[in-house]
Amino acid sequence: MRWSFRLVTIAGTEIKLHVTFLFLVAWYAFAAWQTGGWPAAQTSVLFLLLVFVCILLHEFGHILMARRFGIRTPDVLLSPIGGLARLERMPEEPYQELLVAVAGPVVTLVIAMALWGAIQFTGGTAEIAAFDPGRESLLPALFRLNVVLLAFNLLPAFPMDGGRVLRALLVRRRGMVEGTRIAARIGQLFAMGFGVIGLFTSQILLFVVAAFIYLAAEAEAQAVATRAAGRGVTAAGMMVTDLRMLRVYATLEDAVKLLLAGEQREFPIVDNDGRLEGLLTRDDLVRGLSTVGPTATVGQVMSRVQEPLAPATPFDTALERLRASGLPALPVVNPERQVIGLLTVDNITDLLLVRRHVPGLP
Ligand code: ZN
Repeated sequence: MRWSFRLVTIAGTEIKLHVTFLFLVAWYAFAAWQTGGWPAAQTSVLFLLLVFVCILLHEFGHILMARRFGIRTPDVLLSPIGGLARLERMPEEPYQELLVAVAGPVVTLVIAMALWGAIQFTGGTAEIAAFDPGRESLLPALFRLNVVLLAFNLLPAFPMDGGRVLRALLVRRRGMVEGTRIAARIGQLFAMGFGVIGLFTSQILLFVVAAFIYLAAEAEAQAVATRAAGRGVTAAGMMVTDLRMLRVYATLEDAVKLLLAGEQREFPIVDNDGRLEGLLTRDDLVRGLSTVGPTATVGQVMSRVQEPLAPATPFDTALERLRASGLPALPVVNPERQVIGLLTVDNITDLLLVRRHVPGLP
């Protein structure tokens, strides 16, 4: 299942919506409908759309600040814990990350102050403290939300903004990998705290938020460690070169023999000149045996390889393409499109394991 989908593109940044955000809208609308009927449900949805705009403005604070340092933002994901702007790369200097992290909360602060001014102007100050969902006017509700958003974002719970500030400070002393690891652990401690509170006060949303923070912290710490371990490595440096291939007219029976003869699980399929035609995975083989039988050719059941890797493809890109391909391995080809190696998830894992313990190897 896809967990997010694209909404619009603004200034080169895709706005993506996490499906749980829709659950949130539905949940609020339903709750309001139960107490106040359709008018209340409509007000709730309008309120959430405005919330959505506030969060987006907050994210564009990050995005525009990052752009000042020459970093583009391909997409921003809106989820119940707010937005996550996925920067093209992390700022190199800790002070840049600090400024990028602070820019979002500054926007939220400005919004909150503007709303406060508007409420003062319209004489609705008394409504700020009163909470009556579905009936109260929008401005005080929106003001309160932005204050909560601001406070929440400033908690040092990585990967939220406050946590990023903390990470930037830690990185200066401990380096990127270690600094991120510590910030992520602190973020996860916060997440566990939120989770427990959410559980005991039966606030499902808080529990969901906690789970999000926990997983996001883990994912980011992993990603940083992986990037650091793979620095300076290219596809040629990671690929398996001692490998067997199959001609496109070989039969599935031939493939079975090859599969049983060794440890290799995926076989590049090549033409007579060794040029890439496709990749036969173990799944392709098993599926082929049951659908077209052992005498069919591997060409009939192999997976297409949209974009094989070049030897000089850097580690980051290779990993990303391997993940995006949905295949367990990607062939590495020379400029003539002849297969010279195979990059598998297994050998990347091995490489990372070795390099994490002995930096600089192989
Ligand atoms: Zn933010």
